[in-house]
Amino acid sequence: MSIGGGVQRAIERARSIESTAMQIFVKNNMQWFARPFAREEIRGFLEHAQRQELAAVFAHANYLINLAATNPQFYANSIRALSEELTRADQLALPFIVLHPGAHLGTGEEAGLEKVVASIDEVFARVPKVKTRIALETTAGQGSCLGHTFEHLAHIMENVREPERLCVCLDTAHVFAAGYDLTSETGTKIMFREFHRIVGLQHLVALHLNDSKSARGSRVDRHEHIGKGQIGLEAFRVIMRDRRFRKIPKVLETPKGKELREDVENMNALRALLNKPYR
Ligand SMILES: [Zn+2]
Repeated sequence: MSIGGGVQRAIERARSIESTAMQIFVKNNMQWFARPFAREEIRGFLEHAQRQELAAVFAHANYLINLAATNPQFYANSIRALSEELTRADQLALPFIVLHPGAHLGTGEEAGLEKVVASIDEVFARVPKVKTRIALETTAGQGSCLGHTFEHLAHIMENVREPERLCVCLDTAHVFAAGYDLTSETGTKIMFREFHRIVGLQHLVALHLNDSKSARGSRVDRHEHIGKGQIGLEAFRVIMRDRRFRKIPKVLETPKGKELREDVENMNALRALLNKPYR
């Protein structure tokens, strides 16, 4: 949800369409750095009259950040930007910030993963008191992006110094583009079984529910409206009906206009898949 006009405005936008979960950036997502929050901004968010109407609010990290960056300046910026965003998310009392693990840019997956592990250690060491965790997101594996196999995420979680400060977010469009089968009930259940075996469902804190414009295994990251893409409704029906996911916040990252009409339609499409009428 857009934070244009201030973070507290996102709460109002989300509630205007009766969302109960919300994902936000903690600053303009096309800039490396921002001035710190003013005390009134933090209070305006934390004490907003509608804040309690949202069961889950969490952050997404800036897209510029690459914890496996090879250019020293980009690398330094990435470490600083993520540390600052963790601090900002913590000031807003957000439980986690979703992060794409990084892109190895030609150094290879193994070297890239090692760099990501070292970077996460460095970031956490810089902000020892921050309670906000990092939720590693499954990616489509576009270009040299890491995180398109569950093994990548497991490797990072097993090798960082403070694994308790990490958790995981699963994006349906990404895992599909990465090659996992989500076109049937069986395929979807197998994908989650694999996820549980390799990463562990106990680490799952959020779901990004997006259909995919691009084909299974294409490694191209293009989100589509729910039920209108290559995934179709089956996978979303499985997710909406699985008791294990009932308390896991689910957010859309599908195209939308200012009026948020598309969000309403996508939420309706998902809620229609529940076995009981919504509310
Ligand atoms: Zn996502």
